[in-house]
Amino acid sequence: MQYRIIVQFAELALKGKNRHRFIKRLKKNIKDKLKMLGHEWPVKAIHDRIYVQVPAGEGADEAIDEKMAREVVQELARLPGIAWLSFVYWLSEQQFGFLNHQPDLTVIHDLVKRLAQEQYRPDHSFAVRVKRRDKNFSISSQDFEQQIATTILQNSEWQKVNLTQPDQTFYVDIASDGVSVHSEKVIGVGGLPVGSTGQVLTLLSGGFDSPVAAWLMAKRGCQTDFIHFTASHQPPGDIEQDKIVRTAQIVSESSGYVRLYMVPYTYFDMALMELDLDYDLILFRRFMARVATRLMPDVEAQALVTGDNLGQVASQTLENMESMNNSTEAMILRPLLTYNKHDIIELSTDLGLFDVCREPHKDCCALISKNPRTRSRSDVLEKMEQTHLSDYESLIEDTLKDALVLTFYFGQLVNKHELHSKQ
Ligand code: ATP
Ligand code: MG
Repeated sequence: MQYRIIVQFAELALKGKNRHRFIKRLKKNIKDKLKMLGHEWPVKAIHDRIYVQVPAGEGADEAIDEKMAREVVQELARLPGIAWLSFVYWLSEQQFGFLNHQPDLTVIHDLVKRLAQEQYRPDHSFAVRVKRRDKNFSISSQDFEQQIATTILQNSEWQKVNLTQPDQTFYVDIASDGVSVHSEKVIGVGGLPVGSTGQVLTLLSGGFDSPVAAWLMAKRGCQTDFIHFTASHQPPGDIEQDKIVRTAQIVSESSGYVRLYMVPYTYFDMALMELDLDYDLILFRRFMARVATRLMPDVEAQALVTGDNLGQVASQTLENMESMNNSTEAMILRPLLTYNKHDIIELSTDLGLFDVCREPHKDCCALISKNPRTRSRSDVLEKMEQTHLSDYESLIEDTLKDALVLTFYFGQLVNKHELHSKQ
């Protein structure tokens, strides 16, 4: 038996040049993801669909091949840009000659029979959908649907046919090069393929919000890198076990190429340590925005992204967001601004981020006052910066000098180096 995976592109409404470019990008992402999973399988784009060919004999036997391919379907389903995927049984025209004048269709009937038996659920209804893409096939779609439905009714426990709202559908697709048979559509995350719409730099903290914000950008086709500000110069002993590192790694499983810049904010901390400013939180946000902005050309980012959510914590006010915006020329995107916490948690669960995000974040901001300002004025802030952070330029440079950069590719850590050693 041969297997294939059909991938249906998500945004079918897209037209023209973009569409071609997006499909090409999705094909590349699928190929790269497969490679990281250890499979160099052929991937072809035909019209709106992408076909992944599962080479026979990769596993020890057919059952192992099938299990492996089904697992791959689950992995691919997490890539943005996919409406649905299907694991299909592939019967090649060359081997079976279905387009001959009087074809032998036993193999198709046998296969559907087997699937129907395996997938039987009491009191559920079914339908058969035949698509005849090659009109040389001698039977009409409707007649063939009836013939297959009869096979199912006579050889399995299925009893109810429902053509409008079936619980289960068996698909038979007849094309010039072969017939595919499948019965399960796995729903993808939709959106656009990562890398098709731009590049952003996300400010990643230890909570639920910022990784979800990064994911929403990735789902809209943006490649994202991360910058995280740490309280200490000392990188954690086992860096791969660090909470932030694992968060970036999980996002990278679906968004592909991700760099994480771990940047100590020690110099900023030292400058404000002796002072008791209730503005320190907003000064810190402005500091983060400026350091991140400095990194943007290096990572070719077109915008910064934060997990800000209006009103979620006392300091997340429009005034404070404006003060952060005023500290940089860069565009700051806040995809979660209007989300309810419940929806953010749900998204984080879907992404497999919930468990890591709920772990306590040991490295939280020691310098931040208990009652941060809910209102801030740019002129007051600028004055404070002139007084207490007078050499801002050196502050940014010193801060970035000690950055540690980790590079992930589809969930695997592929490189780790210090920024100033530029490897
Ligand atoms: P999150 O749930 O993402 O941790 P939060 O609820 O803790 O956010 P804030 O602490 O107000 O909210 O942070 C707002 C945003 O500022 C975060 O979503 C993140 O984008 C950014 N941010 C905060 N702290 C850091 C940090 N240490 N390093 C990088 N970015 C940060
Ligand atoms: Mg939050």
